[in-house]
Amino acid sequence: MYLKRLELVGFKSFADRTELEFVPGVTAVVGPNGSGKSNVSDSIRWVLGEQSAKSLRGAKMEDIIFAGSDTRKPLNFAEVTLTLDNTDRSLDVEYTEVSVTRRVYRSGESEYYINNRACRLKDIMELFMDTGLGKEAYSIIGQGKIEEILSTKAEDRRGIFEEAAGIVKYKTRKREAEKK
Ligand code: ATP
Ligand code: MG
Repeated sequence: MYLKRLELVGFKSFADRTELEFVPGVTAVVGPNGSGKSNVSDSIRWVLGEQSAKSLRGAKMEDIIFAGSDTRKPLNFAEVTLTLDNTDRSLDVEYTEVSVTRRVYRSGESEYYINNRACRLKDIMELFMDTGLGKEAYSIIGQGKIEEILSTKAEDRRGIFEEAAGIVKYKTRKREAEKK
């Protein structure tokens, strides 16, 4: 599985529809301070279900919607689509390409899609569970993450190993079954 494409519309500084194409291997994003590099990684965490505005460097979720500039009006919604190559079937669906989309309006309303079909946030979480992807997983190592892994409590650290071992899905199902 690898990241194929990222499309941003109205996400933070990306007012115009912006499409980034990736190929297998290493991609480096370079640019001057404030040009939007971190906004790109924020958008990936957001589309994977990040709910904390603070961890997206904002005060409220609305802050991720393009706020306008001297020459442009603010936009009413932000949308991000992440497309993954799934020819190796890392994701447990029959498609060779999987896209997830998230859209949010200023009203706070959120919409989620998997391959253009409306779904719940929970479906997106489940799709990426045990794959190492997902908003809390280890495929995104942000500033301070390594330190967090080393200094964190044993139970929290175990969560990282459980994700890598691929058993989070089963533990979650067990917990849900026990609730019923
Ligand atoms: P550095 O090299 O300093 O880390 P960077 O390339 O990572 O910089 P970002 O933090 O991604 O830069 O981008 C910051 C820019 O995004 C700022 O200019 C900020 O004004 C802009 N920005 C953030 N949120 C919005 C928004 N909602 N609407 C418009 N612009 C925004
Ligand atoms: Mg940055």
